[in-house]
Amino acid sequence: MRAFSYERASTIEAAAKAAAGTDGAKFIAGGTNLLDLMKLEIETPTHLIDVNRLGLDRIEPTPDGGLRIGALVRNTDLAADGRIRRDYALLARALLAGASGQLRNRATTAGNLLQRTRCPYFYDTNQPCNKRQPGSGCAALGGFSRQLAVVGVSDACIANHPSDMAVAMRALDAIVETVRSDGTTRSIPIADLHRLPGDTPHIEHVLERGELITAVVLPKPVGGKHIYRKVRDRASYAFALVSIAAVVMQDGTGRVAAGGIAPKPWRDEAAERGLPNGAKAVTAKLLANAHPTEQNAFKLALVERTLSAVLAEARG
Ligand SMILES: Cc1cc2nc3c(=O)[nH]c(=O)nc-3n(C[C@H](O)[C@H](O)[C@H](O)COP(=O)(O)OP(=O)(O)OC[C@H]3O[C@@H](n4cnc5c(N)ncnc54)[C@H](O)[C@@H]3O)c2cc1C
Ligand code: SF4
Repeated sequence: MRAFSYERASTIEAAAKAAAGTDGAKFIAGGTNLLDLMKLEIETPTHLIDVNRLGLDRIEPTPDGGLRIGALVRNTDLAADGRIRRDYALLARALLAGASGQLRNRATTAGNLLQRTRCPYFYDTNQPCNKRQPGSGCAALGGFSRQLAVVGVSDACIANHPSDMAVAMRALDAIVETVRSDGTTRSIPIADLHRLPGDTPHIEHVLERGELITAVVLPKPVGGKHIYRKVRDRASYAFALVSIAAVVMQDGTGRVAAGGIAPKPWRDEAAERGLPNGAKAVTAKLLANAHPTEQNAFKLALVERTLSAVLAEARG
């Protein structure tokens, strides 16, 4: 691990200012992803700004009947919150499908959204990887790609986003709230937070230098049946091959987001309008521009089958 300096921020504004004003600075929250990457020298921040004591660990009602989740709310606390379990069960289920109890006790809402891919070549510093080292190539293309993305990919990168929580938040139309280094705030629909790789896969989100996530807002509850189904190689402690986050109404309409298949939580509102007609048509639209590799083409059928199982479960 490279040497770094450390400070504990005491206000939101000071944290954002310090991050923008110091070359090589990074925020640290639970540290469950960042510290691993630092040990492997994949991330090499020169300065860490600890955001754990900024009072961003509360879940509060919003005036329009939704919930504001502080950026530092731990995954365990979010999944256990009575309001989340009752009105946003999809989110609680997605959280509990991720990582392990110990990790969820540390992992935070913002850190989970910004965690980095689990592409094996991203972690192997002997291999070319455009995301780790821009311009070096992509070892996954023509390599071991079974786990990786099938849509939203580019010739430069086929990595997928590993978060379960983000997939549920996408289905719930969550809004990410931030503070920039000049003190201004903005609200970013979660659909717009993560970028597709294009030819710059190392730029993964739209946040500016020093921009701090302060909260994630869930709009008022939408009702319906909430199902999160995660298909993986092991029953626990494994990332999704495919996951489906669905809210299904009594008349068969609803919302669907998919995980494990793209560089960001994947949803197509036009596709999901076909939900009452079953999984096949929805999947065909959702994956219309898929570019799978030979090794991960099985995910196309797996998405359809997983969605089919979800719809059957919703029908009871
Ligand atoms: C063995 C293992 C298994 C796992 N399995 C799963 C799984 O199945 N499903 C799943 O979804 N996840 C899984 N995870 C990932 C885990 O959920 C993430 O590591 C965790 O959510 C990251 O949160 P954190 O608070 O620890 O982030 P950190 O490691 O502290 O930070 C991650 C990134 O977010 C940035 N950041 C943190 N807070 C802010 C903020 N407020 N504003 C702006 N930037 C910020 C940091 O600078 C850093 O770049 C697993 C992790 C491990 C180690
Ligand atoms: S898929 Fe992306 S993360 Fe994986 S090796 Fe290629 S460039 Fe790197």
